[in-house]
Amino acid sequence: MIYLKNIAFLVHDSDRVVQDVNLLVEGNRIKRIGSDIPVPGEGCLVMDCSDKMVAPGFVNLHTHLYQNMLKGVEDRLRIKEWCEEVTFPFVGVILEDAYSGDHRLSSFYGGLGAIEMLRSGITAFVDMDILSDDLFAMWERIGIRGTGAIQAVDKWVPEAFTSSPEAMRAEIISTIEHWHNKGLQRIAIAPSTPFTCTPEYLRWLRDTSEAYGLKTYCHVSETAWEVQESLRDTGMTPLQYLDSVGFLDYPFCAVHAVHFTEQERNLAAEREVSICYNPKSNGKLGSGIAPIVDYLNCGLKVGLSTDGAASNDLLDMFEEMRFGSMLQKLKYEDPAALTARQVYQMATENAAEIMGLDAGILEEGKLADMVIMDTGAVHFAPVHDVIQQIVYCGKSSDVRSVIIDGKLVMMDGVIQTVSEEELVGEGIALAEDRQRMIPYGRLHTD
Ligand SMILES: [Zn+2]
Repeated sequence: MIYLKNIAFLVHDSDRVVQDVNLLVEGNRIKRIGSDIPVPGEGCLVMDCSDKMVAPGFVNLHTHLYQNMLKGVEDRLRIKEWCEEVTFPFVGVILEDAYSGDHRLSSFYGGLGAIEMLRSGITAFVDMDILSDDLFAMWERIGIRGTGAIQAVDKWVPEAFTSSPEAMRAEIISTIEHWHNKGLQRIAIAPSTPFTCTPEYLRWLRDTSEAYGLKTYCHVSETAWEVQESLRDTGMTPLQYLDSVGFLDYPFCAVHAVHFTEQERNLAAEREVSICYNPKSNGKLGSGIAPIVDYLNCGLKVGLSTDGAASNDLLDMFEEMRFGSMLQKLKYEDPAALTARQVYQMATENAAEIMGLDAGILEEGKLADMVIMDTGAVHFAPVHDVIQQIVYCGKSSDVRSVIIDGKLVMMDGVIQTVSEEELVGEGIALAEDRQRMIPYGRLHTD
């Protein structure tokens, strides 16, 4: 049990903040919130929060943790060239290691990414990645709530990234059966983009998601280039194309959706497609600004995320909220566009709902996934409006402690479950070693 005593500000959700209350965690749920909760006896950890905020953990709806090993690589490339020159060569190295039975690389990038996210108050995430048992084992060891989204491709990418249809399908089934709902981990299905999968593969992925009750994600209309390619190759926009193979018949989250047409917006609303907003990644790759206010006006559910560290290059939800909100105000030339409350909701409650997690708000009975933050730093104080200040003033350094599934994973700035120093040191050394193998600029797709 954990008893958070005399909490100065408790954030239930984007609309409700209360002062001077206590919160009791029992097992992996929030047992009680109130001013008159008796302090339980022995075995209960009591934490004084009289100068702290307690808030829901952030939910990072989309990332690629292998890119944690590619921070600061390139700064000028659009998506196609960026894939060819930055990500594909490193994916080649990861796969080469994996084929030889060495999964240390995935274990370490999973660990580095998880620790970076914990430090910015992220308690759950969706990682579209090259998955391995070692990666899931690392998340489980750290104690973070992960969803491994199987990034599926069977065309467009270098040949070495694919194998026979039978082998790819067998591997996906094996990953689902080993890791879905095991400990804190889940599996989702994620065709990388509509143009990297054949229609037959997309149909199989959709049927598999439905058979196992998995969430589905896909990068859709991230750039104007891919919309033009889709129209040329299929006569349809990317979202229409996904619909034509039945992908939207089942709960679906469109990642990016920067270049939806009005017709696609309506299709998304009709099919209850949710949207994943990645403002900083779209900014770094010069992809465009997603029309989030229009999506909200259509009733679409929007969650927020960082995307991978090669196109951001931080997994920091404070920065993402701030940039995401400002960008919409600039796009619409309207200071009321995407308010702090709206973007905060996207980073917590909405993202949790899209992931299917009973978290993202602090209420009795909900999963005990929360962060304890300082309120007194010079960049934050004095406190007038907690939500606005978390969005406009908050920094990841304000996050002092993190509770996930009722367990204290970080306490007063120290990760409790693994040796951060060892993990980060070994992970960076391994990354540097493997970077030397990268044939930058050698791989091209056409
Ligand atoms: Zn992505």
